[in-house]
Amino acid sequence: MTPEQISNQFSIDGTVATIKPFGNGLINTTYKVRTSENDSPNYLLQIVNHHIFKNVPELTRNIERVTSHIREKLEAQGAHDIDRRVLTPVKTNNGEGFYKDDGGNYWRMFLFIEGAHSYDQLTNIKQAEAGGRAFGQFQKLVSDLPGEPLYPVIPGFHDTEMRIKNFNERVNENPVGRLEEVQQDVNFLLERSDEYKKIIQMGREGKIPQRIVHQDTKFNNVLLDENDEVLCVIDLDTVMPGYVCYDIGDAIRNGANTGKEDDPNLDNVGINMELFEGFIKGFLQETNGILTREEKETLAFGAKLLTYEQAVRFMDDFLDGDKYYKTDSVKHNLIRARAQIKLLKSMEENFDRMEEIVSRYV
Ligand code: ADP
Ligand code: MG
Ligand code: MG
Repeated sequence: MTPEQISNQFSIDGTVATIKPFGNGLINTTYKVRTSENDSPNYLLQIVNHHIFKNVPELTRNIERVTSHIREKLEAQGAHDIDRRVLTPVKTNNGEGFYKDDGGNYWRMFLFIEGAHSYDQLTNIKQAEAGGRAFGQFQKLVSDLPGEPLYPVIPGFHDTEMRIKNFNERVNENPVGRLEEVQQDVNFLLERSDEYKKIIQMGREGKIPQRIVHQDTKFNNVLLDENDEVLCVIDLDTVMPGYVCYDIGDAIRNGANTGKEDDPNLDNVGINMELFEGFIKGFLQETNGILTREEKETLAFGAKLLTYEQAVRFMDDFLDGDKYYKTDSVKHNLIRARAQIKLLKSMEENFDRMEEIVSRYV
C-alpha cells in the first residue's frame, strides 16, 4: 500500500496534500503528511521497525500511556502550546494505535510538531543544558505514572550482568578467531566487570527504585523551538522500566564526547567536561526534587557505565564476526570499541571532578 492509502486509514483532519520522507532517524521510516486546509494540522507517519521492536502492540501501549499522562499533567499545570510539548498519537479509523498493512509493516501517526528542529551533534554548553533539561523534564513528568510497570520493550537492554556473562562466553569461544589481536582491550574490559554490575545489584537490593526511562537519549531526539528552548523529547519506542542513571549516562556518552563514536583517531576522543557539566546542570535542575540521594550519587557513574556497556557490546560483536551492528569495514566494530574504551579511560581520569560537579548541582 502507498503512504497515501495508509494515511487514509488514520483519523485525520483535512485532506492529504503531500507525503514526503522526513528527518534523518536511523531506526524507523518517517514521512511528513501535509494537509491542504490552512486550519487542519500536518502529521508525521512512521513505519515502526518491527525487526528491532518485536512487540509493536505493547510498545504502542507504552507510548499511549506515557504521552497521555504527560498531556494530563501539562493541562493541569495550565501549560500553553501543549501540542508541541508532548507527542500526540493519532488513532486509526478503527480506534487502533497502529495500522498493520498486508506486507506486515506497522504504521503509526503523530501530530506533526511545527516550528521545531533538532541537532545531530551538540557544540556548546547551552545545548548540553537543554539536553539535560529535556530528559530531566521527561523524567519528572513520567515519575508518577499510575498503574502497572511499562512493558519491557527490549528485555535485558541494560542488564550489565547478562551482557558481561555473554561477553565472557564469547571470549572463551572465540568463534571467528579474532581474540588474539584484541586481548589487551578485552582484558581492560574484563578487569572492570565487577565494578559495572553495581547498578543492577543496587536495584536488586532495593537501594535505587525502578523508574520509567527513555533509553534513547541522543540529542537529536530533543525538539527545540525557534529560540533553541526545549519543546519535548521524541522517539519513545524504547521507553521502559530502568534506572535513572541510564538516561543521563547515555546522553553524556553520546553528547559530551570530544570525538566521534567510531573515531579512528583516539586522540580526538575524551570527555568534554564543560558539556558534561551542562548535561548535569540541566538534568538536576528538573529532577532534584524527585530523585533520591542514592540515585543522585549514581549519575556520574552512569556516564561511565553506559560507556563501558557500549564498549563491551561493540567488542562482543567484533569477536562474533559483526552479526549485530552494521559495519563499514572489517575493523569497524573494533574501532568503535576502542573509541569507547578511550572515552571510558578519560572519564575514569576525570571521575573525581565529575562527582564534584554533580554535588555542586544537587
Ligand atoms: P528514529 O527512531 O528513526 O530516530 P524518530 O521518532 O526520532 O525516529 O523520528 C525521526 C525524525 O523525525 C526525528 O529526528 C525528528 O526530527 C522527526 N520527528 C519525529 N517525530 C516528530 C513530530 N511529531 N513532529 C515533527 N517532527 C518529528
Ligand atoms: Mg530518533
Ligand atoms: Mg528511535
